[in-house]
Amino acid sequence: PEILDFFKQEYDIADVSFKTWILPLEVESFDNNMITLVFPGESGKTGLQYINKKYLALLKISIEETLNQELELQIILPNETVSKIEDESSKISSVSQEDISLENRILDANLNKKYTFDSFVVGSNNNIAQVTSLAVAESPGDVYNPLFIYGGVGLGKTHLIQSIGNFVLKNNPSAKVLYTTSESFTNEVIDLLRKKKTNQEEIIEFRKKYRSVDVLLIDDIQFISGRDRTQEEIFNIFNDLFMKHKQIVLTSDKKPKDMEGIAERLISRFEQGLTVDIQNPDYETRMAILKKKAETSGYNIDEGVLQYIANHFVSNVRELEGSLTRVITFSKISHSPITVDFASGVLQELVAPNQENAITCEYIINIVADHFQISPTDICSKKKSREFAYPRQICMYLCRVFTDEKLETIGAALKKTNHATVSYGYDKIKSEIETDSKTRDLIDVLKKKINPN
Ligand code: ADP
Ligand code: MG
Repeated sequence: PEILDFFKQEYDIADVSFKTWILPLEVESFDNNMITLVFPGESGKTGLQYINKKYLALLKISIEETLNQELELQIILPNETVSKIEDESSKISSVSQEDISLENRILDANLNKKYTFDSFVVGSNNNIAQVTSLAVAESPGDVYNPLFIYGGVGLGKTHLIQSIGNFVLKNNPSAKVLYTTSESFTNEVIDLLRKKKTNQEEIIEFRKKYRSVDVLLIDDIQFISGRDRTQEEIFNIFNDLFMKHKQIVLTSDKKPKDMEGIAERLISRFEQGLTVDIQNPDYETRMAILKKKAETSGYNIDEGVLQYIANHFVSNVRELEGSLTRVITFSKISHSPITVDFASGVLQELVAPNQENAITCEYIINIVADHFQISPTDICSKKKSREFAYPRQICMYLCRVFTDEKLETIGAALKKTNHATVSYGYDKIKSEIETDSKTRDLIDVLKKKINPN
């Protein structure tokens, strides 16, 4: 611990960097002057490579200084066979004093200062994206170029890409950062083309603006689909920046390969660096996000209310947060205490309209089959492979939860499965829900599909 404190002070490392790279390290062994540290977490090799490049040498020095002896230091992944890793001395970036305030630089960069790594909740769904984004922010142009982040709507892509920009500006007073969405970039190109004949200078200005930056952040790149001129401009800017070792970060709703209407040469540029994804947040992450949000709102909100929201908004962080805001706002207006009943009332219209028809076993089987992208016939078969057995057991569980049918009837719906099998399947899933967050989340998602209310 003393080493940690010493390290943080000595090298003036940002809190979030410290928290991401240094704090998680655990001492695996210490013998014969050889210290082995373990870097846990899900970022795996990607994170390890980076920490070695950036921090190994510094860590070694500060441990040596603290213990006053010479040492060998290596960092490994959990359970990894010990292998020697060369240390690379990290670059010390030169800091030139510029008299522009941070606020202004943030505005010039087109960034929103509320999007920071500090306010970003890390979960297993976004761990790799967060770690690599932070690495890029600490060492722009030096690690993954371009960094390509993809994922569904409202999962934190804009938050992350802007965090990179804000971090760079804050920690590197001379760095030039520019954030844009591909939509506004496209609009700029369209405007320019319109004026083409009359104003060459503007085109030159435009290109200079994008080619003079250290970090270029383009959000929602998918919108350049089908726009040839825009793609051409981006291609040229990209090559220019890339050659100069300037950092490029892109976000998209799909991975490069799956994007349509985009020139092949551009796709291959996108794939040249590192591609990372953000998935739907699992239950724990949703709760963590809600708790953080509740904290900043200054309201003391009952855990049960947060659980209710976490259970009903599973695939979009914006909606998740929006629901909490809505509950808080309505409680203020109506001077009502925030209870689960109150929350469910306020949020009623946000969750999809009620199913008029009673929920049947067939209905559930169809939804589960659809979710797993297998056929209902396969679910209602005797096929024993996990691919089918697991969804089948999920059906048994959900049929018991949602219908009043007898075990025999549920078995019949699953085509002659007997009641003992149904009972076994139900118990198995039920206990998995308690022990395995994957199953719990899956059930959450399916429950919501089956009955959105
Ligand atoms: P996207 O760009 O992927 O559609 P955003 O970055 O706009 O999503 O995120 C939507 C909202 O959810 C934003 O207010 C953002 O701050 C918030 N958000 C998303 N992920 C997280 C997270 N992991 N921690 C904290 N807030 C998050
Ligand atoms: Mg976005």
